[in-house]
Amino acid sequence: MLVSPILSRFRGYYQRKAASLVFRRPFVISPTRPLISFTFDDFPRSALLAGGAILNRFGVAGNYYVSLGLLNKNEPSEKMFILDDLTMVLKQGHELGCHTFSHRHSWETDRRAFEESILQNRTALGKLVAGAQFRTFSYPICPPRPLTKAAIAKYFLCCRGGGQTLNVGPTDLNQLSAFFLEKSRHDIQAVKDLVDHNRRVRGWLILATHDVCETPTPFGCTPEFFEDIVQCAVNSGAQILPVASALEVLGAHASSATTQPKRLASRGGTPRAHTSGNFVDSDRHSKRAMFIGRLRAKSLRCTAD
Ligand SMILES: [Zn+2]
Repeated sequence: MLVSPILSRFRGYYQRKAASLVFRRPFVISPTRPLISFTFDDFPRSALLAGGAILNRFGVAGNYYVSLGLLNKNEPSEKMFILDDLTMVLKQGHELGCHTFSHRHSWETDRRAFEESILQNRTALGKLVAGAQFRTFSYPICPPRPLTKAAIAKYFLCCRGGGQTLNVGPTDLNQLSAFFLEKSRHDIQAVKDLVDHNRRVRGWLILATHDVCETPTPFGCTPEFFEDIVQCAVNSGAQILPVASALEVLGAHASSATTQPKRLASRGGTPRAHTSGNFVDSDRHSKRAMFIGRLRAKSLRCTAD
């Protein structure tokens, strides 16, 4: 009776640790001023319509890590982004990041299939938004297998995981840590304490969530909660930037390699129209996995994968 939970815990520990120890892209994070990034995964429409609107009111921008295979997919409790949302993300100065095309499970998916889904997402973005490119990545659902981590590093300036902590001192650009807001949505003080800790140690806190609405899924939060955290982040004196822009401030872009030429977004926290870092030539959940799996199953009936 006790074996299964113990094995399950060991498996989770192994998954968390395995990739973090190998195929690292070492980088020391020590900004002169603390950094905070707001990121949304998948992404549900409310992340832009409500979450993005809140960021706009504070004059800052965030990241939308998109699985383009989820375009137009809807569940009663959650509507995913539509085509116009992609251009709106960029117009508002946010960054579009890659989350694989079909929201592939980072551990369970074969390395080649995972890499193909990244390339498929890149191709799809190029068709949907002319000239746009993904420059950063977030791992869907859980940490990657070590060989998957090694295989995809060349495509991005950095890759973001989870871990419920901030980044400071020696870090790994191939697996940066993030703090998922929904895990503390009944304990907002824990998030505020982390923001304050980030201020004191001058680190880079990457916050993450999914939907932002009055009746959020277990993987999102309410607009009130989100706005309270954005206000707290602003009050902390941190620079609030999309991930690629934060990398530029940190000087990390010079040591990063991607498979395509790139230009970084403008400095500073004020979003400007059509200045997203996505352009080159022009200006965890088992329940969530099941939800995304249902969306993906529908998607696979319509699109080649
Ligand atoms: Zn996801």
